[in-house]
Amino acid sequence: MEQKIYVAIKTSNSKKTACPNQSEEYIREGIHEDCLSCGKNIEHPLCPDCIAEGFKQWIQQFPQDEAKLRTRLDKFLKAHRYLDGKSKRCIACEKNNTYICPYCFTEYLHKIIKEADLGVRAMSEFLFIFNFDFDHDGYSRELEVYGGY
Ligand SMILES: [Zn+2]
Ligand SMILES: [Zn+2]
Repeated sequence: MEQKIYVAIKTSNSKKTACPNQSEEYIREGIHEDCLSCGKNIEHPLCPDCIAEGFKQWIQQFPQDEAKLRTRLDKFLKAHRYLDGKSKRCIACEKNNTYICPYCFTEYLHKIIKEADLGVRAMSEFLFIFNFDFDHDGYSRELEVYGGY
């Protein structure tokens, strides 16, 4: 995931040099409509901060892992602060902070809780609450494995 984002940033930078006219327009508009990670138009703009709020509440039930999870989450949010105010407007908080689509962001959260090894119960609960895999062709397939559907 982190690598994927890095690649996305690199691609958009090289695009700027290749096409200066487009880049000028980009700067003038100042708003990125697409997801930083998958590059698609964000159809359900819910910003990472709003999703992170719910996630932070949810991880409180895992006191042993909470600090570690929170650190990784904050690191991600901090690394992308420069995009705040330059992205798609969030339907919940109405800030222009939706630089990553809910699917890609929750995919990242999914990855960090998987690495924290919280157990099958926690994983299926996470997938139930934070399921932004609208097409059900990504991580939500795991729900079927856990018998959550
Ligand atoms: Zn995305
Ligand atoms: Zn928001």
